[in-house]
Amino acid sequence: MLDQQIIEEKYTESNGNVTTKRYIKGRFLGKGGFASVYEMTRMDTQQVAAVKVIEKSSITKGRSRQKLMNEIKIHRSLHHKHIVNFEHSFEDENNFYIVLELCQNESMNYLLKRRKRLIELEVQCYLLQIISAIRHMHTQRVIHRDIKLGNIFLSNLMEVKMGDFGLATRLEYDGERKRTICGTPNYIAPEILDCRNGHSYEVDIWSFGVLMYTMLVGRPPFDSKDVKTTYSKIKVNSYSFPINIEISQDAKNLISRILVISPTERPTIDEILEHPFFNKNKIPSLLPTCSLIVPLSES
Ligand code: ADP
Repeated sequence: MLDQQIIEEKYTESNGNVTTKRYIKGRFLGKGGFASVYEMTRMDTQQVAAVKVIEKSSITKGRSRQKLMNEIKIHRSLHHKHIVNFEHSFEDENNFYIVLELCQNESMNYLLKRRKRLIELEVQCYLLQIISAIRHMHTQRVIHRDIKLGNIFLSNLMEVKMGDFGLATRLEYDGERKRTICGTPNYIAPEILDCRNGHSYEVDIWSFGVLMYTMLVGRPPFDSKDVKTTYSKIKVNSYSFPINIEISQDAKNLISRILVISPTERPTIDEILEHPFFNKNKIPSLLPTCSLIVPLSES
């Protein structure tokens, strides 16, 4: 108890009084590009949150500060059941803090590491929730640009929560093309690598296809020994389905419709929802927590 660290948030109320909220810094949850994430408990309400801590000294450049402000601006504007809730942000002398909904069951990266791969019923259940988050972002003109297992979290109820808006962008008008090269190598869309025509919402559809493949197979489709080879494979769309893993024709068909070089030929999020992969059997809306460890069929 003695070395418990207390974080203080000072803010001015509408009557001008300065009030302090105090948080007890708890266990370390993970590290990202420039943030460390901790579980923190608000001392007055006992509410627990995931707090992203960004050292001010780590973002001295104007551009990185701008990126953080962009992440905050976009994330705080999104409110959806399947998007990590942005509670608020504050700063003190040394750090910026982003207070987020705590996702007790960690990111899906850990899930896949434990489970190696998932069965189709589980994949259907997770993907339907991810589709609902993507659809919401896209109707708000937001492109996430970093959809991957490590940015998809699971709540204590096993609900999917999309997080990390560090690379997200908002289009100012329909038809706008973005040109920044960004993403995570295994999930990056070919039009981002070949930036002649810019990119738009379809990059999230591509990453969704990579995600689906990865959940079913246990590794990403363009995975290679180095990033350069991964990019070469993405550019010519070179991937295959392993013969030793049973994957339904519907699943293969949907993945191969999504992973096409030309962005305009990819299905929209609504077309994905209409695909037979999601329409031939009853899909549970949530999975039991034991499926974090063992496949649904064995649990
Ligand atoms: P960065 O934006 O710097 O990449 P992330 O958002 O990816 O940081 O967070 C880093 C790690 O912190 C994640 O991989 C995850 O383990 C943990 N984490 C982030 N947000 C949450 C959350 N809401 N609930 C639980 N753990 C989280």
